[in-house]
Amino acid sequence: MNARRYTFLDLKTVNSPFAEKIDEALLRVAASGRYIGGPEVDSFENELAQSCGADCCVGVANGLDALRLIFRAYIELGVMKRGDEVIVPANTYIASVLAVSDNGLVPVFAEPDAATMNLDTSRLGKYLTDRTRAVMTVHLYGRTCFDSALTCFAKQHGLKIVEDNAQAIGATTADGMRRTGALGDAAAFSFYPTKNIGALGDAGAVTTSDRDLAAAVRALANYGSDRRYHNIYVGLNSRLDPVQAAVLRVKLPFIDEENAYRRSIAATYNSEILNPAVVKPLFVGDGSMVWHQYVVRTNSRDDFRAYLSDNGVQTDVLYPTSPFDQPCYSRLYNPDCPIARDIARTVVSLPVSRCTSETDAREIAAIINSYNPGAK
Ligand SMILES: *Cc1c(COP(=O)(O)O)cnc(C)c1O
Repeated sequence: MNARRYTFLDLKTVNSPFAEKIDEALLRVAASGRYIGGPEVDSFENELAQSCGADCCVGVANGLDALRLIFRAYIELGVMKRGDEVIVPANTYIASVLAVSDNGLVPVFAEPDAATMNLDTSRLGKYLTDRTRAVMTVHLYGRTCFDSALTCFAKQHGLKIVEDNAQAIGATTADGMRRTGALGDAAAFSFYPTKNIGALGDAGAVTTSDRDLAAAVRALANYGSDRRYHNIYVGLNSRLDPVQAAVLRVKLPFIDEENAYRRSIAATYNSEILNPAVVKPLFVGDGSMVWHQYVVRTNSRDDFRAYLSDNGVQTDVLYPTSPFDQPCYSRLYNPDCPIARDIARTVVSLPVSRCTSETDAREIAAIINSYNPGAK
């Protein structure tokens, strides 16, 4: 029995290197008298747009709203209408799907590629109908899901590409030339505290280089008003809090450092985990991935997790149930998605944050290598 404890994620530890700067940022907002919008939000929007290479950024309240507002804006602009279909990955967090169905659009679940666990861009034609208007690509676990098969498909059929970039801030295309958040027509970011760049609460953003879309998202998130007391849409209130913007401005400059750290932990797991009962994630050494999660797969998940827990290793499961199998959707949808269901049955996330040192990663790999399924 190993006495050491390997924390999956402790947000206090994650934020401690920034503590002084975060305190300064909080006091700055408190003293500023600007508690809605203002310079912190404007600056953060500019800095995020610049960091990913998009022309426009609109800060919003959270990642789900970022996605919802993109589709809502497309509807207001006449690009989509209720009843239209959006191809969404079957293996994703439920927020990706909620954003579609909340707008009266129909999610069409696409099977993942078994190796990347992301959208299989070579098989999108299967899901195309005359009502398809968009493909949502989710860079799940921090793995960029964007290639010429996707762009050709979208171009050929006049579809929008919407990125769910909640898990992949700072990720790039394989050639390292372009960043997620500026790959498709619009992208949603989440700064939920556990993401690679997390706020001290809820926060999100939309990036796009489509100025009309950005203006519609901005208006929709502010009661539908394009100027004060002039409401052009039936909008909502989903603004980025300046307190969160100020905190995010402290952390955003360190995104590449954060992601490089995660890559080094992932590389250690990749070279050191050598147990045939544990399938490692497809490893790419090109720096395109940002390893929001390091996800292994095993047929004996409960047993494996109990063994790791007994040896002090905390793990998590993202996600134990596919969105379409959740009670809220299971009566509406029953797609033929055996790969997605198999992923939901077998995935386990290993610790990959700043709470895990290189030594920890080597020790966790050694513990995993001693795992013998079924042995008690
Ligand atoms: C976290 C997350 C969201 C939602 O973001 P919130 O800020 O929690 O609303 C959406 N999609 C994916 C893939 C996520 O991981």
